[in-house]
Amino acid sequence: MYDRGLIAGQDGNVSVRLGDDALLVTPAGLSKVDVRPEDLVELGLDGTVRGGARRPSSEVGIHLRAYHRRPDVQAVVHAHPPTATAFAVAGLSLDGASLAELRLGVGPVPLVPYATPGTSGVADAFDPYWASHDAFLMAHHGALAVGRSLTDAHQRMESLEHGARIMWAARALGDVPSLPADALAVLDAQRRAARGA
Ligand SMILES: [Zn+2]
Repeated sequence: MYDRGLIAGQDGNVSVRLGDDALLVTPAGLSKVDVRPEDLVELGLDGTVRGGARRPSSEVGIHLRAYHRRPDVQAVVHAHPPTATAFAVAGLSLDGASLAELRLGVGPVPLVPYATPGTSGVADAFDPYWASHDAFLMAHHGALAVGRSLTDAHQRMESLEHGARIMWAARALGDVPSLPADALAVLDAQRRAARGA
């Protein structure tokens, strides 16, 4: 994420599910570039620390909520990708209605209302969106992606940023037409089939 410009400084956090009732999450206060295996923190799904010498990410509450709400999710990635975050800062969602690969691989990306980072309000703000979305813009903050594996979640974050860059450029060229409703319905059906939903 750091090498690809999706985060800077101590931005971002990553977790993976461990078995039925635990997760492994990146620590607070370290650049992801410097994170070593021994820096990772193991938590129960109830939020209690089970292993690791560091404090878990201050945003671990969103990760815990994702695993509770979505049994299919195996990994969660939070980053501040510049172009996708620009949409979130501008108060815009990314519905993917004009870009087939975004609609198919990432899905419609809602704009989750702002809550103060590090508070439980951030996880609460996601609650209406878990069931039908795999990637999320966080108003005035950043982006979050979930997946069936760490690779899946990370690639979705990359694709979100890539799609946001394309939409940024397209908007600079003028009006951006949406795909017709029947074409969107086909893409949405393919995405649902790929999600197993
Ligand atoms: Zn953040």
